[in-house]
Amino acid sequence: MGHLPDVDVLFFQPAIGKQYGIISLGFLSLSAYLRKHGYDSRIIVLADRDTEDLVAKKMQQFRPRVACISLHWYIHCYEAVKIADAVKKANSEVKVVAGGHTSTYFNGQIFEFTPSIDMIIKGDGEKPLLDYMATQDPEKTENASYMKDGTFVSKPITYRQMTLENLSAANENMNEMVDEWDRYLKTVRVRTSAPISSEKKVEEIETKPSEFYLYVGKGCSYNCCFCGTSKTGSTRIFARGISIFRPLEDVVKDAKNLKDNGVESLFLDFGPFTAESYFHKLFDKLAELDVDITFLPWNLPSNELISKVGESFRNFEIQISPDSGSESLRARLCQKGYHKMFYPNANLVKSVEKIAEVGSSRGAQLFLWFICGLPFETEKDYQETVELSVSMKKRFPQLFKSPQDQLNCVPLRLTPGAPIDLFPEKFGMRRLRSTFKDYYEYCKELKTDKIEHPLGLEREDLSEAEIIKRAVDFKDAVVNA
Ligand code: SF4
Repeated sequence: MGHLPDVDVLFFQPAIGKQYGIISLGFLSLSAYLRKHGYDSRIIVLADRDTEDLVAKKMQQFRPRVACISLHWYIHCYEAVKIADAVKKANSEVKVVAGGHTSTYFNGQIFEFTPSIDMIIKGDGEKPLLDYMATQDPEKTENASYMKDGTFVSKPITYRQMTLENLSAANENMNEMVDEWDRYLKTVRVRTSAPISSEKKVEEIETKPSEFYLYVGKGCSYNCCFCGTSKTGSTRIFARGISIFRPLEDVVKDAKNLKDNGVESLFLDFGPFTAESYFHKLFDKLAELDVDITFLPWNLPSNELISKVGESFRNFEIQISPDSGSESLRARLCQKGYHKMFYPNANLVKSVEKIAEVGSSRGAQLFLWFICGLPFETEKDYQETVELSVSMKKRFPQLFKSPQDQLNCVPLRLTPGAPIDLFPEKFGMRRLRSTFKDYYEYCKELKTDKIEHPLGLEREDLSEAEIIKRAVDFKDAVVNA
């Protein structure tokens, strides 16, 4: 068998079995950016494969100079270290670079924990990775953290993207970007799930076949208390507390490339804006592609935008996250500056009516996302979430083909860098994890059914078990309604 050409960089996307193995948008953007500058790369997805075996095989096949590991989501702490070890085992000369939200947050602790990672790029990675490819020298790499003669060095974050011009997150031939592209596209994986050490699943959402992310923008100017990429979290981590859209024409070009490579359903999870004009223009342009969409607007979409979704796509799914069914709890969190835009439940119901009007005849679907155990949530607030969800199921059965999957109330979980992690006492919370090692141990436990602290937090007045019980009772109430 002939040897394939060597590539400069292998990007390893961690997964946990079938779960959480979705390629991060950062990897797509980095891979395209390097390609523009003459460096070849492949993204390797480790979903549902033996990590050590696959890393060894791909290292041999592609013979990279640098291996990059996504440590964006904290859920990958254990697997990311395992991948780094496997790369070094395959070839100790290859440099291992990690990046993303979690590795930025814990950068110093990670070097204490493992010798297998040579450098962490903090915050935005495009230019720093290019610096590194040219020099292989962390001292000449912006935003870098590394060890030098046994001492930890953390350079300040001097590179941050304030626009997203001239980036892309797709390629004319996706096989040149993602290894085993067809397999990736056709395999259904679990997108999100909430392990709670119980027989019951309170959340387990699968990807659709031939579905792929559309990269529309990054950052968020809201400050939800539970979110690591909130304004507070991303100001600390990416030195950028604002959100930015990509230019429309770049996004449309990506979408066309994706469609040409077999994508039939776009997944669009972005929208920290009250102004919807960007989406009106984008959807007009995407209409000619004749694809489906899963759209997660972060605010409540207006009737006009819902109609536009209906006109522009073959079929659609909308996912809305009110977070609580209790208006008064949402208002309280908003007043404190720890939630996104407030809207009353009556407006939510009107939007759902519009979605039904536009989409019912063609089987359009709706997901609603709630969280139990939020700071200050009372038993009454929680009951309001249950009642709202049950009434939605009864009133709009056509929008919820699988109500137990589409009406979700997940238990609050700790995310590094979220306001509740940084200032737990402000929210009456207690953290049950704080160090990188704590997260590593938790992720290792995910492979077993003995998870000591599934949520990583509790409230001063509500134990971890009681928060989980709310999630389990919610699911029962929805299923039995
Ligand atoms: S809207 Fe809230 S949950 Fe969504 S990214 Fe922004 S801060 Fe996070």
